Amino acid sequence: MAIAKKKTKRARTSRGASSSRTGALAVVFGDQLDAGAPLLDGLDRKSDVVLLAEVKGESTDPPSHRQRTILFLSAMRHFARDLRRRGFEVRYVEIDDPDNSQTLRGEIERAIAELRPERLLCTEPGDWRVRRAFEDAAATSGVAAEVLPDAHFLTSTAEFAGWVEGRRRIRMEDFYRWQRRRLGILVDDDGQPEGGRWNFDADNRKPFGRKGPEVRTRSTFSPDALTRKVIETVRRELPDLPGRDEEFGWPVTRKQARAALDEFIEHHLGDFGPYQDAMWIGEPLLNHSLLSASLNLKLLDPRECVEAAVAAGREGRAPLQSVEGFVRQIIGWREFVRGIYFAEGPEYRTRNSLGADRPLPEAYWTGETDMKCISESVGEVLDRGYGHHIQRLMVTGNFALLAGIEPADVADWFLGMFVDGVDWVTVPNVVGMALHADARPGTSEGVVGSKPYASTGRYIERMSNYCASCRFDPKKRTGEDACPFSVLYWDFLLRHRKRFSANQRMALVMKNLDRLDDAERKAIGRDARKLRDPSGVARG
Ligand code: SF4
Repeated sequence: MAIAKKKTKRARTSRGASSSRTGALAVVFGDQLDAGAPLLDGLDRKSDVVLLAEVKGESTDPPSHRQRTILFLSAMRHFARDLRRRGFEVRYVEIDDPDNSQTLRGEIERAIAELRPERLLCTEPGDWRVRRAFEDAAATSGVAAEVLPDAHFLTSTAEFAGWVEGRRRIRMEDFYRWQRRRLGILVDDDGQPEGGRWNFDADNRKPFGRKGPEVRTRSTFSPDALTRKVIETVRRELPDLPGRDEEFGWPVTRKQARAALDEFIEHHLGDFGPYQDAMWIGEPLLNHSLLSASLNLKLLDPRECVEAAVAAGREGRAPLQSVEGFVRQIIGWREFVRGIYFAEGPEYRTRNSLGADRPLPEAYWTGETDMKCISESVGEVLDRGYGHHIQRLMVTGNFALLAGIEPADVADWFLGMFVDGVDWVTVPNVVGMALHADARPGTSEGVVGSKPYASTGRYIERMSNYCASCRFDPKKRTGEDACPFSVLYWDFLLRHRKRFSANQRMALVMKNLDRLDDAERKAIGRDARKLRDPSGVARG
């Protein structure tokens, strides 16, 4: 199986040999490190210039984890070095350059003023704010600008818009089946799913049991001289960034990213599926792919990830339930959230349909709280800028949903604190999936999900060993030792009772709510108020 990458045609830019002006100035943003991008294919290496700029503004607002910042800067420097070896003219602005304006717009404008390009180019940024910076810089400078489609993805924004057109509901599962069929992945000649099922979710929710997981140690990539220099620079120039950097070992080059993919396929894909929702103290990585940062920086191509997983399945090296689970994340969920991000527009980021208004608890920055699940999950994020999808959705995301934390603040935290954080990923995942805040005005159903992913502590108890060493009891919903998740879950339903009562998919849950007597409702409301107070349990 080979999934063809679309080529985007663009006229080559050239300038006369006698001109001192630059032909095209091609801006490559930090999450666009795709060596095969059509943007680069179309450049004239004699007359065009590639601009890469490190700016503090991208690390301070919102605050970016030290490892995320190091990863971006190191990967950008390695990428620029490779471009120069390939003969490209590169203007690279380092973060400690005394003339650095420390904003993307400022650096694009400065490059335009100095190089006087005939044209300005970039690949579609994955962040509305960055796109605006590019367009504003072009407008201010009066230079013609062109934004090229991003060929990294399997689905263009236009194709996604075409898929959405005329649909009464937009659901990932429908999109995923459409992707499988049109791309010919894990389907037979009649367009039916291999193995007779479109997904194996029901088989992929196993907890580890008493014994816990047996996981092969993961390789990390020791920082080379260039990365070590970046680490020193970040420590000096951005000393207040959150997180720890001692264990930095993320892939920073295309070669390392490919090695990480090969290791995952060879040693972890097999067990990835069945245990993909399980959590365990002291085991932050388990059998997760750890490829999202490499994919989101474009060091890896989604096609090669899917091809490698499908080949492993065909050769009997991984069961279908694991292969399908991984493929769904790549061609389904990843492409779906990007489609939503662009289809819904910049305003999507500010949606808050449940009226959540509490500040982000201090524990999200420190990991210091009596809630074992939060302290473990946040502690792991602080250690390496990583947490797997269930920790994100059902621990930190679920708590933010139940406690009513302001969605934009939660989206900023997820954007900055994870090495794979980029806006097109985090906004739909947080505002849409985790916080159910994305209903359009006048509607009760969310765009991404028809009902909230809300759960009591019982879910966390079932899927992890966190609760066994926590001072709270997941079975209790009132009282001093009641699990905050369980208290807040019922309070959340009570607070949004009217809205959720109109949702068919919430009917069973709302029936259970009706069984609570007045005294218990009062006790839940009282305990929840204390927990939701900024000085409550997650204050740190
Ligand atoms: Fe988390 Fe509640 Fe379990 Fe404690 S008891 S670990 S707070 S789910």
